[in-house]
Formats: sequence, C-alpha cells, structure tokens
Amino acid sequence: MRDTASGPRVLLKRLRELMQEPLEPQERLDRIVRDIAANMVAEVCSLYVLRADSVLELYATEGLNPKAVHLAQLRLGEGLVGTIAASARPLNLSNAQEHPAFAYLPETGEEIYNSFLGVPVLRAGRTLGVLVVQNKTMRHYRDDEVEALETTAMVIAEMIATGDLARLTRPGLELDLRRPVSFTGLSFNEGVGLGHVVLHEPRIVVTNLFNEDSDEEIKRLDASLGSLRLSIDDMLERREVAFEGEHRQVLEAYRMFANDSGWVRRLEEAIRNGLTAEAAVEKVQSDMRARMLHMTDPYLRERMSDFDDLANRLLRQLMGRGPDDVAASLPKDAIIVARSMGAAELLDYPRDKLRGLVLEDGAATSHVVIVARAMGIPVAGQMRGAVSMAENGDAIIVDGEEGAIHLRPQPDLEAAYAEKVRFRARRQEVYRELRKKPSVTKDGVQVDLLMNAGLAVDLPQLAEAGAAGIGLFRTELQFMVASTFPRAEAQERLYRDVLDAARGKPVTFRTIDIGGDKVLPYFKDTIQEENPALGWRAIRLTLDRPGLLRTQIRALLKACGGRELKLMLPMVTELGEIAQAREIIDREVRHLSRFAHHLPTSLKLGAMLEVPSLLFQLDELMKAVDFVSVGSNDLFQFVMAVDRGNTQLSDRFDALSTPFLRVLKQIADAGVRNQTPVTLCGELAGKPISAMALIGLGYRSISMSPASIGPVKAMLTELPLAELETFFDDNLMAPVQGLPMRALLQAFADDRSIPL
Ligand code: PEP
Ligand code: MG
Repeated sequence: MRDTASGPRVLLKRLRELMQEPLEPQERLDRIVRDIAANMVAEVCSLYVLRADSVLELYATEGLNPKAVHLAQLRLGEGLVGTIAASARPLNLSNAQEHPAFAYLPETGEEIYNSFLGVPVLRAGRTLGVLVVQNKTMRHYRDDEVEALETTAMVIAEMIATGDLARLTRPGLELDLRRPVSFTGLSFNEGVGLGHVVLHEPRIVVTNLFNEDSDEEIKRLDASLGSLRLSIDDMLERREVAFEGEHRQVLEAYRMFANDSGWVRRLEEAIRNGLTAEAAVEKVQSDMRARMLHMTDPYLRERMSDFDDLANRLLRQLMGRGPDDVAASLPKDAIIVARSMGAAELLDYPRDKLRGLVLEDGAATSHVVIVARAMGIPVAGQMRGAVSMAENGDAIIVDGEEGAIHLRPQPDLEAAYAEKVRFRARRQEVYRELRKKPSVTKDGVQVDLLMNAGLAVDLPQLAEAGAAGIGLFRTELQFMVASTFPRAEAQERLYRDVLDAARGKPVTFRTIDIGGDKVLPYFKDTIQEENPALGWRAIRLTLDRPGLLRTQIRALLKACGGRELKLMLPMVTELGEIAQAREIIDREVRHLSRFAHHLPTSLKLGAMLEVPSLLFQLDELMKAVDFVSVGSNDLFQFVMAVDRGNTQLSDRFDALSTPFLRVLKQIADAGVRNQTPVTLCGELAGKPISAMALIGLGYRSISMSPASIGPVKAMLTELPLAELETFFDDNLMAPVQGLPMRALLQAFADDRSIPL
C-alpha cells in the first residue's frame, strides 16, 4: 500500500521546486501536470483554466494530445470539466463515459480513459479552473487522492492569481480572474476613488504555502486554535453588552465551530499533505465557501460568514499580523476592501494613503462609515461577493456617488472616471474660491455653514472646507474608537485641541450620545433592549450615570477656560432633563471655581430636537435653552416611524415631503418667535436641495459633513431667498396634491439655474 502521507508531500515538495525554477510559464505548467500524473500514477493529468468569457481552456496536459493545448475548450457547465467548475465540487468517476454530463472532445483523444477525477481550482471560494487526472482502468480514486489533488490545485490557483499565466492567454482573451467586474450596492459616502485593492483580511501568500515539518506545523495550528478558543471563551464570559443577544449567538456559534472536530480534522489533513497551517486554513475555508456559494438559505449563508470570520481570526493568530505591517506595505492609493470592519480598524490605516473603502456589509450609520465620512473618503457598501472577487493590488474604482465599484476596470471606464475625478477636483477648486466669498444668498441674507466633526482627524477640514465653525462635535466618537473609557485628561486634551483648531470659530460640543446603535463594548451597564433606538441612550443614559456626565462636563469646562463653551444635550424628550443636566453643570462650575480654575467666559446650553414630544412644547423649549439644534436624522426616524439604519426602507419616505417640511418650519418659526437661535445638524443639511429647503423655511445656520460645505455654498450664493419664501408660502401649507415637494423644489432650482 502506498504511503498516503508522503505521496502528496513528495508532490508538493516537487511543486515548490518547480515554482522556484526560472521557467517559462508554459514549461512550468507542463512539468507540473507531468509530475502530478507521475505522483498519482495516472496516465493523464490536465489543467483547464477559466477564461473571462466563461470558457474553460485546456492549458496543459500530460497524456492527452498535446496539440489540443489552448485549443480544446468547454463552456462553464458543459461536460465533466464544465460541471466541476460550475458546481465547485470534485467529480470522482470510475467510468466517466457513463456520466450524463460527459462530452467527448475529439481533439484530445481521451476516449480510451475510463476513470476520471477532477477537482476545482479554487481561490477564496472562487473557481479559477479545473484539474483532472484520468486512468484507463476503471478505478475509484481514494479520498486521500482527492485531497491531494485538491491541495495541488491550490498551488495552481496561486499561480493563476499571481498573474503567472496571463502571458499564455491569446490576444483578445482574458482569464476569468482578470475579468473586469462591477458591483452595485449603496453609497455610504460621496466621492470617487481610483486606486488599488488592499484586502482588509489577510490572504496567504505563496511563499507561505508549503510546510517543512508537518508535526511542527500541527503544533502551531493547535497553539493558535487554543488561543482562539480562549479568546472566544473570554469574550463570552465577560458578558459584555456588545456580545449579548445576536452577538452572543454568533460567539456561541464561533465556539462551536472552533471546537468542531470535522473542521480541525480537515485542517490537520491539509497540513499532513504538506501545507502550512495558514495555507490549510485558507484551503479548507475556500472549499467550504465554494460549496456554500450556491446555497440560498439565508441562515446557512450567515453561518458561512461566521465561519469566514473565525477562519480570519485564526489566520491572524497564525500570522501574528499587526497593524504596523499593514501600514508599511500599503500602496499610496489604497482602497480597502472588507467584509465588515470596526471604526478603530479603519483608523489603523494611514489617512494619506486611503482613497476609498468598500464593505460587503454595513449600513450608512455604522460606526466605521461615520469615521470614513469624517475622514472624507468615498465609501460603497453592501457589495456582496466583492472580497472573493478582488485580489490585492487589483485596480479598482469606488464610485461613492452611484454606490458602485468597478474591479479591474477597462481602460475606457478608467479614463471616464479619471475625468470625473479631474472634474471633481476642478469643482473643489471652485469651492475653494467660494471660501473667500461671504456666505450669503443671492439677495444678501447671511446663512452660517458649519461642519460636523467628532475626531481629531476631522480638524484640518475646518479650514479646508471653509466652515464657519463646528455645529456638532460628536464627543461619543472618542469613546467609540477607544477600548476603555477615555480618561478625563484625554477628553480634556481632545476638547482643547478642537478649540485650538477652531481658532475662535464657534464649536458646539454634544454630550456623549451613546446607546442605540452606538455601543461601547467596555461599558458594563448597558442592557439588552428590544428597541435600542427608543431605549436607554444619550441624555437618558448619562442622567442615570451622572459620573460619566460629570467627568465630561468637567473636562469641557476646563478645556474651554477663557473661551465660550457651547454645549448641547442629545435626545431630549422632556424639559425636566434639561433642568437636571443644568444642575449637574452648575455643580461642576461651582466646584471648579472653588478651586480657582480658569472658567469659560460664557456657557450656552442647548438641546437637540430629535424626539417629537418637543414639537408640542416648542415655546417652552425655546425659553428653557440658549439654542436648539435639530437632529434631523433621529427626528425623521421618529416622526416617520422609520428605522434610520434599515436599508430596506432607506428610500421609502422622503424628508423633503410636505409633512416633514411643515415640522421643520414650525421649529424655525418658534425659534424666531422666542428669539432662540435654531440650527440643524443632521444629514439633511448636507445635500444642496435639502439645504435650500431649510434656508427657505427660515434656518440661518446649518451644520453638515465638511465635504458638503462647498456644494451647499455654491447653491446658497445663487439662491434668491425671497422667491423661495414665496414658493413655500404658496405650496407648503396648501393641501398636499400634485407633484411631490422634492420635484417642485428641483423645478424651482432648475428654473433659476441654482446648482444642486
Ligand atoms: C441626528 O440625529 O440628526 C444627529 C445629528 O445626531 P446623530 O446622527 O449623531 O444621531
Ligand atoms: Mg441623533
């Protein structure tokens, strides 16, 4: 009996030598198939490679007619080879000609061979080709032989992926792997980025593929599996809020998988066949992914992504890869492609090299997207399948306007986008020019355009965008990207940096708005909630944990010594909450003055208007505070009863519809009536058409992401405000009928050549 462990090992060793020899690609392939045939005692070994036109072309053969190389071809799904490629599963047949899919290719002379074993050439779950061995005798290939051929196929996948075979393609044809592909999903942040793919999760490299010593490698695998299991147990035991509910189920599933003996056995088998532990993880994962690719059951697909995550964690353990290595090897025009990502992970990449972000999952309001927006990089999300189609270094375009990506774009598409980027740059130039102009409407009414911020990385944008100040500083972002509660000194330092960067321009700090979708994993007290958006969040939470609020207020008071402090409270529902917060602030002021601290020159306290209950006590609200800031993201979700993070519903209702515009007008009117300044700081302020509507309704101060200031100012300076006010007088209070309000506003702008 043949030594089942050493057979594949000998072959892999031979392949490693072949990969290192300075050979022409065809010669290398010819030798590979010859060696496989010899090692597996097969009369035939052939390699078919999948082309971009969905045809499998014979690239090399030992045993079949050599003249058929590069001529014999099968369509995807056609014949045995096409069936293997389409299903991504091996076929092991003792009498191939009896199989219903058998298709005879006369040029190959294969009719004399009876037994057939074919395996898909897979990479990251994607089929790149098919590797076949055949024998004249009717025999059934053993499981270890199937396994050996699969492992060999992985080496070939690496060759295809590294572009080694590209020179063998005939002119006008391309390998499937190099095929340009486009995906459409959702736009999470505007802008266009051209650059090269950087896969966020590690993928193995060829130098890492073959092991020197299986036993050592299995020990390494066991150690990493051990730490992986421990870290999962640890997370489960800590019972942190982020790991409650669904997250907990996912972790339980991880624990189950990490202890799954089938998985571990397959990993060990792949190592015994000669792979490194990393390569084994990749192989087992790739096989599994390919098999699951065709499943439509959402539950199973979800579990697959859990498994993917787990495999990636294991790879990271094995490779001991830190963020520094990533930064060093980054191209200067990096576009990060990830299944999903935490906000802090994005900050590990150097900003000056980032040109875009592509996510398979995520929502426009997920933390990583908020951070990316603050950094001003285009983001496209919900790009299912992008990770397995992309290779490190591939050219890629992120279109954050259309919510699309183009992988390996054709030259004409790339040229069109390069033109688009130049056009945007010219437009940016126009916006830069606009910075010097006063922020007034065409008929001379002043409107302050402020920016939203939340991290130190945002600060340079203040000058670049020409903002009149910071209308919303989301202090919770500092908490969200940290792994423990930021200490009082760190908070104070950030607030001081913000004020220094603002150079006397107004800054409105919002007290931490956590809870809801903004979870701090290290905050032990958070509870599991049925409806987190309506739950224990923002001012509700900080009033119940006054220690948190006190520390923050003290840091703010100290940082603002000698300057004005503008402070606002998120998610106010009733006026009593403002009074309670004011008491805490007063106490802190008294405390600091007792110790002779330098206090702010003035303190303005505002409330965010995000909860509809305040709409029915507008006058009382206006009297209770120094200013009001409308949080239109939350206000819209509560007025319309539509979850702001639900992509299914994101286009269903329009904030520029009559009812919501009437709400916004009532607020602006109440501000005027009570002489209380009103501003608006939700996403609505950042789109020129909705900003135009807000100004028409009476808003004289709006706050938006820095990138929006240029386009909004371009609109503002062309806006004849008096005409828009008349338009609203005629249309807003009239019964709802005819064209939707958005269309009317668009027509208003078009008629007057207002750039939107
Ligand atoms: C809002 O709700 O509009 C707002 C500005 O706050 P956030 O988006 O941080 O909830
Ligand atoms: Mg809000």
